[in-house]
Amino acid sequence: EAKRRGRNTVTPFQAEIRAVTLRRARMEGELRAAIRMHRIVPYYQPLVDLKTGAIIGFEALARWEITPGQFIAANEFIALAEETGQIAELTDSLFRQACRNALTWPAGTVLSFNISAIQLSDRLLGLRILTMLAETGLPPTRLELEVTETALVQDPQTARLILEQFVGAGISIALDDFGTGHSSLSQLSTYRFDKIKIDRSFISTFEHSEKQDKLVRAIIALGAGLGVKVTAEGIETESQMAKLSALGCDIGQGYLLGRPAPLPASGQGVVNHYAASAGASALSA
Ligand code: C2E
Ligand code: MG
Ligand code: MG
Ligand code: MG
Repeated sequence: EAKRRGRNTVTPFQAEIRAVTLRRARMEGELRAAIRMHRIVPYYQPLVDLKTGAIIGFEALARWEITPGQFIAANEFIALAEETGQIAELTDSLFRQACRNALTWPAGTVLSFNISAIQLSDRLLGLRILTMLAETGLPPTRLELEVTETALVQDPQTARLILEQFVGAGISIALDDFGTGHSSLSQLSTYRFDKIKIDRSFISTFEHSEKQDKLVRAIIALGAGLGVKVTAEGIETESQMAKLSALGCDIGQGYLLGRPAPLPASGQGVVNHYAASAGASALSA
């Protein structure tokens, strides 16, 4: 009886697995098509100098709008692209779009672009990025690559090789989500980087937690000690911004200063879009 049942019917567990597998296969195919047709596009979030209020650059954040108004979270499709061997194609598509867009910004405005952990074990990454820079004409000095501390320690030898290529070409390196990864300061001290980005989880809690407040101060002091700039991610309130500014944090990013937004299809471009928005004027107020 059990044998017959096993052969002819599907248990709820098997049905569940099949549903998940099917959904995944469908998503994988949809992702492949979306990448090929450049339907995954960069949005841009301003990076603001907390001393002057000036926009110094934009972080490119990938967006996939599957139906009008309905987005899949970046973390999700980036992970799917990694798991299904599509991350190199996705990165190339996004990076080319971002470089072309960045060329329309005022001279000197920096493009900050995320590199996911798995890519720092891809020996060809350096060559691909440098080739795309040359093809699009974006000067390497206008590019900053965001890597996480965890990524650096996963395959340290390859990561080091790739980062040396970038630094040698004049590209800046930012340590993203700082304070949340699995690395030690002694490991980090062996890499060259230009910026530390304090993770949003600290910014959302430091005003109400003495421990988080101490950590934020320590990271800002670390940046000053190392001679690198410090960015605070996820600034949502005036009060957070004022405190971070008083603590000597160099750069701010967050919904208060501007949400990630697409490059306007026509008109004056992303910089003026932000200059005209309420978020940017929060600083001068
Ligand atoms: P991330 O690099 O740390 O990016 C910051 C995330 O915080 C973004 O989420 C951004 O939209 C969000 N954010 C910014 N300001 C605020 C704020 O004030 N409040 C809140 N609640 N959130 C804020 P997003 O766009 O969903 O991206 C999530 C992560 O996905 C990124 O974290 C990054 O690790 C990854 N990612 C996004 N785009 C790319 C990409 O093009 N390539 C790669 N490899 N990874 C990407
Ligand atoms: Mg980032
Ligand atoms: Mg971040
Ligand atoms: Mg993050």
